[in-house]
Amino acid sequence: MSEVIDLKKLSQYNTQGRGVTTLYMRSPRSMDRYERRSKSLSKLLKEHPEELAAFRANDEKLTTYFEENPYTSGGLFIICSAELDVLVPLSFDLPEDRLPSEDGLWFDTTAYIRPVAEMQDEFEQHVVIVATNHSASVQLVTVGKHEEVEAILGEIKNSVKKGGWSQQRYARRRVKQLSDYASEIGEAIERLERRTSFARIFLLGSKEIIQELEEKLPRRLRNKVEGVKAVPSKQSAVQLEEIAAELFKLAEASQEQDIWEEIRAEAMQQGRALLGAMDVHVALQQGRVHTLLLQRDSRLDGTRCKVCGHVSLGVRELCMMCGESDPLTIDMVNEFVELAAKAGTQIEFSDPHEELTEVEGVAALLRY
Ligand SMILES: [Zn+2]
Repeated sequence: MSEVIDLKKLSQYNTQGRGVTTLYMRSPRSMDRYERRSKSLSKLLKEHPEELAAFRANDEKLTTYFEENPYTSGGLFIICSAELDVLVPLSFDLPEDRLPSEDGLWFDTTAYIRPVAEMQDEFEQHVVIVATNHSASVQLVTVGKHEEVEAILGEIKNSVKKGGWSQQRYARRRVKQLSDYASEIGEAIERLERRTSFARIFLLGSKEIIQELEEKLPRRLRNKVEGVKAVPSKQSAVQLEEIAAELFKLAEASQEQDIWEEIRAEAMQQGRALLGAMDVHVALQQGRVHTLLLQRDSRLDGTRCKVCGHVSLGVRELCMMCGESDPLTIDMVNEFVELAAKAGTQIEFSDPHEELTEVEGVAALLRY
């Protein structure tokens, strides 16, 4: 079973100087690239003996890990630090083309959690119900993986008169069967709700049963239904998963759009929203951000001082706070993700669109 991504925990690892290696690979084919990148990083660190030693210590820890856990399939994300004595692997049993595109190796004072933040958003835990006349499958989808948590037998006969029953009696009995069946499915969803957390439910299957089920669900759960699709009964598991993934994608895109509309409306009247990297950075540092909206492909450089830890936007020669030379160049999007993760702020990644691009791909809805 796939694990739920705990961004808050992953954002906690940090060292004074560079000491944290993050490795993200979309498939085992990236191993070669990782090894090449590791060699070139070693060369780049030659003039910084302490950093080089820390990097090599991490590298050894990783080598041991791969010897003991051969990497053969799926995506892999690892945070490794010898100094902190941690190695946190997360594996993703998904095809390459469904994983965030930018893989690589990072060596910094904190972990590069941007790829997993994207995954958390893209593969947010949800529920899929596949209900036909014969049976219903209640599935919990975690990081893209479907797990059947309950199966319920339906055995609802077709709505035509058959055999010894009079038409009316048959119809009445059938209505009762449908109602009981839908109730049973609803109860299974409620049981699942008690032990997991999910924000969305998708209903697939026979139109009649889906309708009945929507009526039976308590309002709280009905509000979580964000996609419904009638599908013919003879669908393979793979086909059904594809349909469910498509519904999830639509729901996610519509949520991104809603958040953007809300941010724009608030920003127009100078309300609870901010646009652009500079203002959003300040608000994140103050813990005022409710929802952080980031454009998936946005690139923003920043600078982090190795001495005082001060972070500023843009590439700089000197620390703006203490004047120390040779600060680190960092990915500001990752910095934003980290600040948001630490504060438990909701992070949404959005596909590029012109208005968002114009504000550097960064916007926020504020708590106050
Ligand atoms: Zn400084």
